[in-house]
Amino acid sequence: MQARFHAIWSEIAPKLQEALLPFIGDDNFPAMLTAEQIESVKQISGLNDHALALALLPLAASCSLTPISHFNVGAIARGESGNLYFGANMEFADVPLQQTVHAEQSAIAHAWLHGEKKLVSITINYSPCGHCRQFMNELNSGTQLEIFLPNRPHLTLADYLPEAFGPRDLLDTPLLLDTVHHGHQLTTHDELVQAALEAANRSHAPYSQSHSGIALQDEKGRIYTGRYAENAAFNPSLPPLQAALIFMNMSGSDCLSIKRAVLVEGENSRLSQWNATQSTLTALGCTKTEQYTF
Ligand SMILES: [Zn+2]
Repeated sequence: MQARFHAIWSEIAPKLQEALLPFIGDDNFPAMLTAEQIESVKQISGLNDHALALALLPLAASCSLTPISHFNVGAIARGESGNLYFGANMEFADVPLQQTVHAEQSAIAHAWLHGEKKLVSITINYSPCGHCRQFMNELNSGTQLEIFLPNRPHLTLADYLPEAFGPRDLLDTPLLLDTVHHGHQLTTHDELVQAALEAANRSHAPYSQSHSGIALQDEKGRIYTGRYAENAAFNPSLPPLQAALIFMNMSGSDCLSIKRAVLVEGENSRLSQWNATQSTLTALGCTKTEQYTF
């Protein structure tokens, strides 16, 4: 079992421990459970879907990286596929707070990067902040997304975000988690560059059309990609680097172990991720950051 789960494990109910151990006991546990695994966990633990998502929150929160606030938030996103994806907040020392990732963004980006096409619900251990309510309003689930919290009534995003401003106020375009492919190409055979290009092709940037993606390689040679997730209200947009750091962290890799990073974006895009990406990666100790443009 990964070290991050050790401290909280003793607080998990014995029946749930027994049910989860075959999955979470694996050092390569990807902080997600497939629909099939969930059926087995529910059968052994006796928990229903809702109770299980709530019971998993402390495990998700133990994936938080909070050197500034020490305030750990966990989230569990349920995909249309039936899979559950962990999410956790992330802060980065020596980097402005605008680069912070919230738990809901983490769970959503995590699901998206695993290929999930729509979310049904999200379970969180604290009420979603305004920033996250707006971020979630970009999803193709719309305001019908169900939101669960401990000891609170079952509500939807429409309840948390009345009089919402969202994508439909601007454009009739694909929404976040819709399948897109922008068709950009690069001739290099470099595996990391091609991974970043594929991420850019699947990015969500309907307002600026500034598609971008990134690929990070850790010390073991593993590759984590991140796609830009633009937001109708602009500021809650999630940069590609943050999406990749989410994927890397949730996959159990150390965000301070990035050996090489490649950002891919458009040469004539209206905005660039390059300066912010390079600056944050330098703070994370990555000395090899490259930019490729299509
Ligand atoms: Zn938030």
